[in-house]
Amino acid sequence: MKLEDIDNAVLLQRQKYLENSYIELDKRLELLKKVQESIEDNEKEILEALKLDLGKPTYESQLSEILFVQNEIRSIKKNLKKWMRKKKVKTPLIHFPAKSYIQPEAYGSILIISPWNYPFQLLFSPLIGAIAAGNRVVLKPSEISSNTSRVIKKIITENFETEFITCVEGGVEETTRLLNNRFDYIFYTGNGHVGRIIMEKAAKNLTPVTLELGGKSPTFVFGDSNLDLVAKRIVSGKFFNAGQTCIAPDYVLVQENKYEELVDKLKIYIDKFYGKDPLKSKDYGRIINSSHFERLLKLISEDKVLYGGKHSVEEKYISPTIVSVEGEDTCMEEEIFGPILPVLKMTNLKSAIDYVTEREKPLAMYIFSNEKKVRDSILKRVSAGGVTINDTLMHITNEHLPFGGVGESGMGAYHGRNSFDLFSHQKSIFNASTALDLPAKYPPYFGKFRLVKWLLRFFG
Ligand code: NAD
Repeated sequence: MKLEDIDNAVLLQRQKYLENSYIELDKRLELLKKVQESIEDNEKEILEALKLDLGKPTYESQLSEILFVQNEIRSIKKNLKKWMRKKKVKTPLIHFPAKSYIQPEAYGSILIISPWNYPFQLLFSPLIGAIAAGNRVVLKPSEISSNTSRVIKKIITENFETEFITCVEGGVEETTRLLNNRFDYIFYTGNGHVGRIIMEKAAKNLTPVTLELGGKSPTFVFGDSNLDLVAKRIVSGKFFNAGQTCIAPDYVLVQENKYEELVDKLKIYIDKFYGKDPLKSKDYGRIINSSHFERLLKLISEDKVLYGGKHSVEEKYISPTIVSVEGEDTCMEEEIFGPILPVLKMTNLKSAIDYVTEREKPLAMYIFSNEKKVRDSILKRVSAGGVTINDTLMHITNEHLPFGGVGESGMGAYHGRNSFDLFSHQKSIFNASTALDLPAKYPPYFGKFRLVKWLLRFFG
């Protein structure tokens, strides 16, 4: 798309919004149905593109990209009429018989920018929330997952009118052009560096933003757990999509006396899931591109490898790798975002919690323990976007839980009803009575304050 065409598409959506305000229920449902059908019609192409971009196993793509979105559409369609209703709230007696409501209202035109690791889901999940709330949407898929970006562009162009949903492909230049335009809301998923650029651009027009960012998600493992199950669940959460998951367990803190047993079991499950040579496994993905591949290789120092560490440049393959880490290490500086799992010994609960809180607030946290007291003390001291207890990744699968970060891992949360709320302005409506009129409201004020104070105390 030419840069001028980007401006025109954004302008068109804005004009249509100003002319017609929000999109009515019937049209929203029609758009959602169309999204649903266009995904079904193009499923094969989407799966192929994900395979080309990330070597994603079909099963992983079906679960985490396609089914994830389709389930959310089904649930939104079922509940939308109810969610759209204005909600009556209490009105203080002093205003009797006035009534008060909250009316969810579309923002207008929304820009959604997504990254490459779940390139389909991370664009379509916010899209359906934004449509459900009655907005028009401009989509900007990641240029890094170029095959998926192309399929998405095709789906959107063939099925939707620009005034409702449009897709702008491209990189920094195109995104900057988009950001120079005025939107009513910006929803960005990606790294914190670009997150800051988005916020700066949005500030010019006081455009609200949601930032879905990343972070180093810790995993606590205590000796009272069933270590076999723990290892199984850590391996599945860490190496899904070859570790390129924003909420993947970034590193493990294990009780000192259970360190060896856990590492042994992690190795067993890597073998069980991906075989002795994961390069040959159909169930193991690839690194997105050579720069991320090079970045990850630098994090593996041979003397610290406990398992794995194998790689192939041509295949952009890094085997599931476990590394031992003590204290500070290059692995512990930034989010790993790849198939490398540092395991650290924790000598006691307090120092383990301190180790985590010395770092930025993570997007996710995992606690493996059957002791409520232990779990509660971690939950109380460590702030994180979301938490799963005794498993990994699972909190993202429950659409009733808002999904998002806190602090350095982001702001704002979505999925299911939370998406509808996120993409709606909660408009307050006070419907005053014309039947009764309290004289104390009006000037001259002399002598009225005591009466108003008394009325507010008993009827306010
Ligand atoms: P990316 O490089 O694909 O960038 C994301 C988007 O930002 C792309 O659409 C890209 O075109 C745009 N972009 C890049 N540079 C820009 C610039 N200078 N100005 C304007 N736009 C620009 O993806 P990424 O950032 O490498 O994604 C990985 C990060 O995203 C990780 O930190 C990961 O944890 C995080 N992430 C978070 C979530 C979540 O839901 N919280 C999900 C997935 C990934």
